[in-house]
Amino acid sequence: MTSRKGSETPAAAEAAPAEVDVAIIGAGMAGITLGALLGKAGRKVALIDPHRIHHEEFRAEKIGANQMQLFEKLGLDKMVMPLVTPFTDVDVFRLGQFFAREKKWEYAFSYGALINGLRDALPPQVPITVGKVTEVSTGPDRQRLVLADGSVVNARLLVVATGHSEAIRRAIGVERVELSKAHSLSMGFDLAISRRDCAFHAVTSYGKRASDRVAYLTVFPIGDRMRANMFVYRTVADQWTRDFRAEPQKMLRELMPEIAAQCGNFEVASPVEVRQVSLTTTKGHRRDGVVFIGDAFVTTCPTPGVGIGRVMIDVDQLHSVHIPRWLETPGMAADKIGTFYDDPVKVASDEDGMRVSIYAKRITTETGLEWRVRRLRNNTARQLMIIGRKMRHLGPRREPGLA
Ligand SMILES: Cc1cc2nc3c(=O)[nH]c(=O)nc-3n(C[C@H](O)[C@H](O)[C@H](O)COP(=O)(O)OP(=O)(O)OC[C@H]3O[C@@H](n4cnc5c(N)ncnc54)[C@H](O)[C@@H]3O)c2cc1C
Repeated sequence: MTSRKGSETPAAAEAAPAEVDVAIIGAGMAGITLGALLGKAGRKVALIDPHRIHHEEFRAEKIGANQMQLFEKLGLDKMVMPLVTPFTDVDVFRLGQFFAREKKWEYAFSYGALINGLRDALPPQVPITVGKVTEVSTGPDRQRLVLADGSVVNARLLVVATGHSEAIRRAIGVERVELSKAHSLSMGFDLAISRRDCAFHAVTSYGKRASDRVAYLTVFPIGDRMRANMFVYRTVADQWTRDFRAEPQKMLRELMPEIAAQCGNFEVASPVEVRQVSLTTTKGHRRDGVVFIGDAFVTTCPTPGVGIGRVMIDVDQLHSVHIPRWLETPGMAADKIGTFYDDPVKVASDEDGMRVSIYAKRITTETGLEWRVRRLRNNTARQLMIIGRKMRHLGPRREPGLA
């Protein structure tokens, strides 16, 4: 059995249920959705977070149809849909030219508002306990948490869903391993143009030159606002980043003149929020009584937009496959928990997330011969598609004249 003190300062805690099947630390995307599913399945759950209201922070701001299908599969779409802005018809620009109009649906939101809305929609049997965990003891049979107000939660299983936060991971003795430090930079800001006046429902414009180190800019509606996310391979300290934060309009007009006029000349209506993201995984997590999920286990890059999907695969596999089996028999030893970390669906999801995160950076920025050839091949194929589309577009208009 391990027993270590957490390092966070104490805060007032609501009464937590004393005996539960599953204690979940962290009421973000992973913790709330797992808590809701376990609660609906009749499990006794304690869901603990230091804050009742999730603060506004720049995180995921949209998901695609595949990710929404995961919520549908889990019966959570009714919780999610009222909190998002659905849109379709995304105009995609590549090589500075119109490339395609994507008809698939996407769903936009502010992360804090989404998490708070999901918390409000939790079933009554899954209340959030507001408090800080100050002591964690894990073992092959029972898990024990002590909160800052002295209350104690005993559980058969402990789920750590604390995202990027390190306090609980450290208290348990689990290490974060950086696979790619400062891998990318995500930037988020509001455009001044209204949704009604914007020429696009939504637009995605990819970087043109490796030296720009821009993956893409995406502009999309959240309610009545037009929001922009830009993903670049730079650091917060780069002069480029400082210049962008000081003069986003000027730099956007230089980078993407082809869509500037339709986006209100890129007049920006909010500060530019910036988040540096590293690719990380976890070491020392195979232990009795505790399982790590979502960003508390692995972090991938926002550029390919796979984070929420990865979180929901963890939640789905745990809720539908592993936790029911684990609770069926006595004990909660490390070999039982290991079946989750070895689950081929979970392993493939984490590996895919990491693979696309690394590939997206290399195909955008690498200057070695192999990558220059790959870019040339991809760009030639895209250029041919653009020419082909233009010719097809001209074709039918000529036909009447030819007849
Ligand atoms: C800038 C940025 C952009 C992104 N864009 C996308 C995107 O476009 N598409 C996509 O799919 N993914 C994206 N992601 C990834 C996605 O946001 C994350 O994968 C996902 O939100 C992780 O959810 P989580 O529940 O694991 O963690 P979180 O949502 O961070 O939840 C962690 C919770 O734990 C709580 N907590 C922390 N410490 C403690 C403690 N000691 N005790 C109790 N509770 C604690 C916190 O208060 C929080 O509520 C992006 C990420 C970033 C940073």
